Amino acid sequence: MSGPLALRMRGVVKRYGKITAVAGLDLDVREGTCVGLLGPNGAGKSTTMRLLTAQSIADEGELEVLGFRLPAESKAARAQCGVVPQLDNLDVTLTVEQNLLVFTHLYRIGRAERTDAIERALKMANLVERRATRVDKLSGGMRRRLLIARALVHRPRLVLLDEPTVGLDPQVRQELWALIDALRSEGTTILMSTHYIEEAQRLADTVLIMSHGSAVAVGPPAELVLEHAGREVIEVYGPPTRLAEVESEAGAAGLRTRRTGTSISILGVDGTGYRAEGERRPANLEDVFVLLTGEEIA
Ligand code: ATP
Repeated sequence: MSGPLALRMRGVVKRYGKITAVAGLDLDVREGTCVGLLGPNGAGKSTTMRLLTAQSIADEGELEVLGFRLPAESKAARAQCGVVPQLDNLDVTLTVEQNLLVFTHLYRIGRAERTDAIERALKMANLVERRATRVDKLSGGMRRRLLIARALVHRPRLVLLDEPTVGLDPQVRQELWALIDALRSEGTTILMSTHYIEEAQRLADTVLIMSHGSAVAVGPPAELVLEHAGREVIEVYGPPTRLAEVESEAGAAGLRTRRTGTSISILGVDGTGYRAEGERRPANLEDVFVLLTGEEIA
């Protein structure tokens, strides 16, 4: 892929005492694309997001956001970024509109443009009807939409979303996906951390799978699936002893496997003529994730 970079990380390291939360990470995000940082708990996703918003400072490596070097030029970078934190830090004593107004001031949006900026953000997040509602009267999903709207008032070129749908029910999650997708189709660059595979698969042009602070794979979801899990998988259910047998047989035939609690998936069986008693299904990003991180999905 070509085009200017909205984000660039090279050899970035962040330690907390003896823990290395980010262990030499490289990341390129092209302008106008959506990149998903996917990883199990503790993989270093939030730390990476904090580094990119200059809430924490890297111990080693280079970071550039919209062409600005961090931490030296973090103020200039932040002015053109929208940051959606994982934790809801809205002012619950204010209305939806007042929360947005505070941010138009923070981002120094001129008086003449404030109304338009707020209207646009309200529309984008589908909160026009709720403009006068106090935040403590909103549902969890609406609050999350407001958090996103608040990050958009100044029309940022880059939006950083830390676990945008964590803890939300599936229906609300889909509403947020629609919002993120709309943002992406407007040409806004997006970096999103998530531990929901489906979220990454649906929204991200490129996925970076993290484990223990490092990238274990990076690429478009469909390419990662093809490269690591092939086209087809045979999923075998059975008692642990049976699964162990299936695993060693597949291993002996040179095929990769991955476990879930109750089944084993034999990857890349397409074109091999390999037979096992089980269900054939298309390979997916979850197969890749489990294969590379060794983690099951919650
Ligand atoms: P989650 O999905 O659980 O949010 P994550 O991928 O975002 O996980 P991080 O929160 O970045 O992971 O954590 C990476 C590692 O760094 C973990 O081992 C964590 O305990 C450690 N860590 C993160 N922040 C701090 C901190 N402020 N002080 C000490 N250790 C920290």
